[in-house]
Amino acid sequence: MVEVFLWWIGSGAADEDLLTELRAEVTRVFEVGARCWHGHERPLDSFDPRRQQHSSTRILRWLIEARPRHSGKIVGLTDADLFIPILTFVYGEAQLGGRAAVVSTARLASDNGFRLDRALLRERTVKEAIHEIGHTFGLIHCERRTCVMSRSVNLVQVDAKDRGLCPDCRRRYAELREQGQHEHE
Ligand SMILES: [Zn+2]
Ligand SMILES: [Zn+2]
Repeated sequence: MVEVFLWWIGSGAADEDLLTELRAEVTRVFEVGARCWHGHERPLDSFDPRRQQHSSTRILRWLIEARPRHSGKIVGLTDADLFIPILTFVYGEAQLGGRAAVVSTARLASDNGFRLDRALLRERTVKEAIHEIGHTFGLIHCERRTCVMSRSVNLVQVDAKDRGLCPDCRRRYAELREQGQHEHE
C-alpha cells in the first residue's frame, strides 16, 4: 500500500491545520494512506542568490535523499518562493510517476495585500498539493478548468478548480493504479 508523507520544510512555523486537512484530502482523493512527517532537516542548497528564490528541482532531489524510510511518496510543503529556470515562479513541482513533490505557499496568499486569509491560503495549498501528488501518480494535465489536474499559472485559475479529480482523471487514475499493481506482482 502506497503511503504519502507530508513534510513541512519551510522556514516559518508549520500550519498544522493545513497538514491535517491535506492528509485527509490525500486519502479521500487518491485512496491511499497519508501521514505527516515531522523531520527537522531542511534543504540547504536550493537557494539561488541571483534570483532570490529556491530551485524546486533541487528541493525534489533533496527530498528523495532525505526521504524517511518506507515512505512511498514524499511531499515537501514550504513557504519558500520556488522557481524552475524557464518560469518566473512555480506553485510546485513533481516528478511525473515518481516519488517526490514540492508545493509552496509563497505565491498562494491573498492578492489584496491587506490581511492573510488563512482559510483561503489553506484551500489553495491543498489544491496545488493534490495536483502535484496527482503527477507523482502519473496523471498529466487536464483540460477541464474545474479539475484539480488542470494547470494553473495564476490565482484565478487556482480558485476556479476543485480539490478533486474530474471523472476522466479518476478513470485514468484507476487505470494507472491497476497497471502499477500488475508491475509489482
Ligand atoms: Zn502540473
Ligand atoms: Zn481532469
